[in-house]
Amino acid sequence: MRILLATRNAGKIDELRQILAEAAPGFELVGLDAVEPYPETAETELTFAGNALLKARDGVKHTGLPTVADDSGLAVEALNGMPGVLSARWAGRAKDDAANNALLLEQLADVPDRLRGAKFVCAAAVAWPDGREQVVHGRMRGRVGRTERGSNGFGYDPLFIPEGHEVTSAELPPEEKNAISHRGKAFRELAAEIVD
Ligand code: IMP
Repeated sequence: MRILLATRNAGKIDELRQILAEAAPGFELVGLDAVEPYPETAETELTFAGNALLKARDGVKHTGLPTVADDSGLAVEALNGMPGVLSARWAGRAKDDAANNALLLEQLADVPDRLRGAKFVCAAAVAWPDGREQVVHGRMRGRVGRTERGSNGFGYDPLFIPEGHEVTSAELPPEEKNAISHRGKAFRELAAEIVD
């Protein structure tokens, strides 16, 4: 059975494809580049789950395929859980990682180490053509460092030090990050739901 992952991010497609291949060998995962183009879903909800569901439902509506979608971001304790769903555009422009990281560092400049706790959160949803829907969450806890370190990953990875580590998630090899990441956890749980 074909399943759509509503993203053009090749890294996400590879990661979920590998997880599905182990959990559910009968499924073939395709990305947005492999289906008839449709307008990008506006992420208008205030929760990760809400936005993941919007994208998953849109995929079913436009392609007729069961569709998986995810939405994720960084929740910083000292900022009352923000940037949250605004993570990608925290500094005002969409997907400007350097500006987002610089702004976050400025905002936390006076926050002591013991209060720099944060977590990455990922909601992963699947919507089925018969109207069924499932949403799961994955989390990676850690803290926000004081300087950017490492060149793997993307987004806030150079600032994020996962619990139990002294390096940032941008310094971890991709397989190691996937094994502990919010997205890895959510995708593995969703894969189990899909085959259930
Ligand atoms: P999206 O869910 O892929 O659109 O991610 C939203 C935003 O959250 C990204 O643009 C990043 O700023 C941040 N983010 C989500 N996951 C990660 C991660 O694994 N590392 C670093 N930043 C992330």
